[in-house]
Amino acid sequence: MTTDQYTFDDPTTRYPSITPSSNEDQPEPGLDAQLGPQADLGELTYRGTGRLAGRRAIVTGGDSGIGAATAIAFAREGADVLISYLPEEEEDAQRIVGLIEDAGRKAVAAPGDLRDPAYCQDIVTQAVEAFGGLDILVNNAGKQVAQESLEDIDDDQLIDTFDTNILAMFRITRAALAHMPAGSTIINTTSVQAYTPSPTLVDYASTKAAINNFTKGLAQQLAPKGIRVNAVAPGPIWTPLQVSDGQPKEDLPEFGKGMPLGRAGQPAELAPAYVFLASAESSYVVGETLNVNGGAPTP
Ligand code: NAD
Ligand code: MG
Repeated sequence: MTTDQYTFDDPTTRYPSITPSSNEDQPEPGLDAQLGPQADLGELTYRGTGRLAGRRAIVTGGDSGIGAATAIAFAREGADVLISYLPEEEEDAQRIVGLIEDAGRKAVAAPGDLRDPAYCQDIVTQAVEAFGGLDILVNNAGKQVAQESLEDIDDDQLIDTFDTNILAMFRITRAALAHMPAGSTIINTTSVQAYTPSPTLVDYASTKAAINNFTKGLAQQLAPKGIRVNAVAPGPIWTPLQVSDGQPKEDLPEFGKGMPLGRAGQPAELAPAYVFLASAESSYVVGETLNVNGGAPTP
């Protein structure tokens, strides 16, 4: 039998517990191609069943990690997908474009910098032109750089983190709304950090709390128009973000081990949450944050 997301097994051992080396290091933004051990993006394990047939999606940060797993799953469920990513990530992005096309769907590769307001508008225009419309927006790109103290967070990092995690989300969503008919869905990636911030991630964690708040406010604003807004809050997931200064190096070997499931999650384990919130199955789910975190209690 082929293993896929419908296979019943023990979640504590579904994936091996990884022990990344504290030497695991990449320059920002990090590449899945360089990640050791390799993450599971669902390449061999995600099976589509037509849950997003004919939908048209944007996934920011769709080149790697959680966004890439989501892009692959969306395509296998029948959606066309534009992925947004930084130019340095072309290698990862082209692999995901190939997987979207292998699923028989249209892919658009849109490199650029989300700190640039014009690019935020541009990805929406590109998706609408290529797909003839837009029904799914996943605001997933994010910047996370650990620092021991507040004084170590200089203005460049502070502004970059808020530009990428917050301002881009506002701008892309604003541009997308002009094209999204009733029945569309918006999904924002927040984090367990929104509730239980690490002392080394105060800038990042506060953006994630803001994303939760934005999700709940905008959800009420758009629900009467038939557009549902929700969020996914991952716990510790094995992605390039974590080895490109997302965690203090000395913490990497223990990454995810403190969760009740005893291991870090894989990007492939996040994709079904995004598919659910993007699909019509979640028609009465609005303003919700779906926690996919290995068991951390949340409010
Ligand atoms: P990732 O590095 O694979 O994805 C992050 C992506 O953000 C990058 O691939 C990059 O394309 C994009 N990005 C960053 N800065 C950008 C910029 N200026 N312009 C354009 N794109 C930019 O890592 P990931 O862990 O899959 O992260 C995806 C989301 O999940 C992020 O929002 C992150 O905060 C969130 N998250 C991750 C974890 C985790 O443990 N990995 C936990 C909770 C939340
Ligand atoms: Mg990437």
